[in-house]
Amino acid sequence: MQRNIDTLTKTIHKYLERNSLTTDTPPWEIKKSDLGGFGVFATRPIETGELIFKDYPVILGPRAALTCPVLCVNCYSNENLKPCEKECGLQLCSSKCQNSSSHQKECKIIRQWQTQKITGELSEKLTKVLSPIRSLLLSDEDKTVVKCLKAHKSEQHGFEVDIMKNILHLNIKEDEEIFMRFVCSVMDSNAFEVIVGNEDNQSSVKGLYPLGSLANHSCVPNTTHVFDEHQHMIVRAATFIPEGAEIFHSYSRFIWGTATRRFHLYRTKHFLCKCQRCQDPTEFGSYVSSILCKVCKKGKVIPIDPLVNNGKWQCEGCGEIVNREDVAGISSLLGAALNSFTTEDIDHMLRFIEKKLLTLVSENNETVIELKYKIIWIVGHQKGFTWTELSDSLLYTKEKFCRDLLSLLETLKLGQCKMRGLLLHELCSCYKEMRRREEKSGHVSKIRDNDMRNLLQEAADILMYDVGAPAEIKNLWPDEIKKF
Ligand SMILES: [Zn+2]
Ligand SMILES: [Zn+2]
Ligand SMILES: [Zn+2]
Ligand SMILES: [Zn+2]
Repeated sequence: MQRNIDTLTKTIHKYLERNSLTTDTPPWEIKKSDLGGFGVFATRPIETGELIFKDYPVILGPRAALTCPVLCVNCYSNENLKPCEKECGLQLCSSKCQNSSSHQKECKIIRQWQTQKITGELSEKLTKVLSPIRSLLLSDEDKTVVKCLKAHKSEQHGFEVDIMKNILHLNIKEDEEIFMRFVCSVMDSNAFEVIVGNEDNQSSVKGLYPLGSLANHSCVPNTTHVFDEHQHMIVRAATFIPEGAEIFHSYSRFIWGTATRRFHLYRTKHFLCKCQRCQDPTEFGSYVSSILCKVCKKGKVIPIDPLVNNGKWQCEGCGEIVNREDVAGISSLLGAALNSFTTEDIDHMLRFIEKKLLTLVSENNETVIELKYKIIWIVGHQKGFTWTELSDSLLYTKEKFCRDLLSLLETLKLGQCKMRGLLLHELCSCYKEMRRREEKSGHVSKIRDNDMRNLLQEAADILMYDVGAPAEIKNLWPDEIKKF
């Protein structure tokens, strides 16, 4: 379908209207982007934290990745799963989910296609190809929405349809196959991972958000997004956005270096990012990609032109030229070491940072950051390292790592991003435990109530609407959002 701005804008507005998500004067509009294709732009200055838009998934379904657990196909719970009584092959958690109108529709179409019983492993396969099946059940209006989104043509798309035909032996019609293959490529380019469930029982599915997917990617996004309990995507400004500026979000991980991010974006979304951060050899002075020079031992080695994939690197100190392969070699070696640690290995991880990493790479290198981030989520959370169990030294280490990462996010100009919200909450939990220990041993703590309250309030503001936010945070939200 030929995309032009007027019909695209109308289609998106009508879609939001059907889902009761329109506002009187939305602060955004769809325009041609300098990046090619369309983008979303600010129609007026937008303040940090301001709500920009809410979106609803036109298609929502289980993820196709091998590692994803099987979930109830209606409510995405992973408890009490039973095969559908009508033997479509899907799993559901209750008679309520079994009898839901959305399941009845997909159940019927799958049973019409079936040529064999679908149980066990096949049932798992069927769950993972459910999203394209659901696209056939959309209203004509919603099909039009999907058709106006961008699709990438590439051979890896549509493997879900191959599974339906060659493994599940579903008897699908040719026009259904053509549309489902198209939907698979649209979802591959545009779908978001959506968090469902609460803090303790989270899983993720994938959703196609029409307006959300029109916003382009930048590794320095000016927005942040979360999902509420009804799978709405809530997009808010992470930094101040001037009138006329393009609205960006990020499909990548902030703590990865440029080469890692660009490779991942190319592999999954088929484009080479050329954003401000990708262009800057030092990534705003963070040196997330850099390694230490083997010649002068202290200079940082950075890419001469980070947008050239196999270009040369150079030491900022002594000028030594380093081949890209040598840098990549160190990174993959460290990456492999990183993946070999198990949760109990914290002492080992800390020694690895001190004795090995910091002799090879700069202090903010992606492997150092990745490891610190891993440790932050073990300490205070995992068995053997809960708040009451952990040693004083680990508690202080976690507090320092939280501060290190928060300052890195600032260097990377990420504003009020979701990761900042999560880290502020973790930092606050550290302070609380530090104070408890100081008071228990008869000391007067220097940690003030007010400071902790401010940290927690900022975390609550950033994570507002997020279904996965910790209960302590949710309690601080305004009543109308709690009831949302
Ligand atoms: Zn269910
Ligand atoms: Zn069924
Ligand atoms: Zn970039
Ligand atoms: Zn050097």
